[in-house]
Amino acid sequence: MSEAAINHLQRAIRCKTVSYKDRSLMDFSEFEKFIENIRQDFPLIFANGQIERFVGYSLLIKLPGKSKLPPIGLMGHFDVVPVREENWLEPPFGGVIKDGFVYGRGTLDMKGHVISMLEAVESLLSEEFEFERDVYLMLGHNEETGSIMPDSGASTIRDHLKQQGIYFSMVVDEGGALIDGKSLGIDGTVALIGVGEKGYLDIELTATQSGGHASMPPKISAMAQVCEAAVKLEKNKFPASFNDATNAMFDALNPAMKKPLKFLFSHRSLFKPLLLKVMTEKPDTAAVLRTTCVATMASGSFAPNVLAQKASIVCNVRIIPGESVESVKNRVQSLVGEQIEVKLHNGTEPTDISPSNIREYEIIEETTKEHYPHFKAVAPYLMVAATDSRVYHGMAKGVYRIAPFETEKEDMKTVHADNERIKIEHYIKGIEFFKSLIKKASS
Ligand SMILES: [Zn+2]
Repeated sequence: MSEAAINHLQRAIRCKTVSYKDRSLMDFSEFEKFIENIRQDFPLIFANGQIERFVGYSLLIKLPGKSKLPPIGLMGHFDVVPVREENWLEPPFGGVIKDGFVYGRGTLDMKGHVISMLEAVESLLSEEFEFERDVYLMLGHNEETGSIMPDSGASTIRDHLKQQGIYFSMVVDEGGALIDGKSLGIDGTVALIGVGEKGYLDIELTATQSGGHASMPPKISAMAQVCEAAVKLEKNKFPASFNDATNAMFDALNPAMKKPLKFLFSHRSLFKPLLLKVMTEKPDTAAVLRTTCVATMASGSFAPNVLAQKASIVCNVRIIPGESVESVKNRVQSLVGEQIEVKLHNGTEPTDISPSNIREYEIIEETTKEHYPHFKAVAPYLMVAATDSRVYHGMAKGVYRIAPFETEKEDMKTVHADNERIKIEHYIKGIEFFKSLIKKASS
């Protein structure tokens, strides 16, 4: 199986399924090629499944189960982000094998995940394994540009399933993480399962003045006004707190922790001020405890000697569960004052937090422990980045994000970057992981 499985991944990588917000830049013949490839490589899925296409290229494949129990949903996307070809050591769409790795854009994000999932399903079908529940494969073709786009494959498929009254037992997508447990007093690798996602918001701050020549400036320019507002927002950080997801995470990690952190974290309410202070020092832990707000873009006048009539700064905001687009707007407006106009773009609320005390979650936890017995702990966590799976919150008992491969930190850095690659050994283990997971989840 493994040789064919590697070849299937190589073939998938060779399709240049690059996503652009400007859809006219997308080469849809490459998406068609990808679909044709998987049709050839996974004949049993395509023979047994009911296949529907949405927005042209997103695929919904339903494999019927024996019972009427709530179905399971396995998500993935086969689009990728663009490459800067000159920085690659191997051709980004070559699917080259070198030193035990397959190289190429999408090997980790996330064709490796998608193909290993398809391998697992195909293999179960070849063993004549009978699904108890319906199994839905939801494969999006434009995840990288966001589920908020009106033609998002994931959102369109979700709307279709919602109309049919489908309610999943569980939905699984990309996005879990493997971390070094050291900073939490744990010796070794910790697997994190994403149980929710922060919200997203772009805030445009604008100051307007009459403009004029820069040789006779007013007391404060429009540009300085918005800069001041942006600085105010970064200095007055949103309050940090433990939310449902972080509480569930620390509860799950606690048994594996060593003293003194074990003691501190098991008395979290008592040591809250201390723990929050320490944890908000670092950007990665701060991000799971508070809403973050950071200035990312600025625009002013068109020439160095001209005052801006309109100066704007865009801040990117990631909203913690418990807060909302509305509450963020109110706080921002009261901080920057009435003279600054606050406009919201691309607002998405934080998701609810999927439970980690139900059988659906336990299946993922159990499977992870079985296949990766050397991991020191498995725990739920809040994702700070967005995935397509957010659209299924409210349509499943649990929506979970998993990392099926034991990817090393160094290799994780190649995601959305140069020389993306997956270790073949990890990829093959991922297929076995998915087989067990799907077997349990679908029965
Ligand atoms: Zn992805």
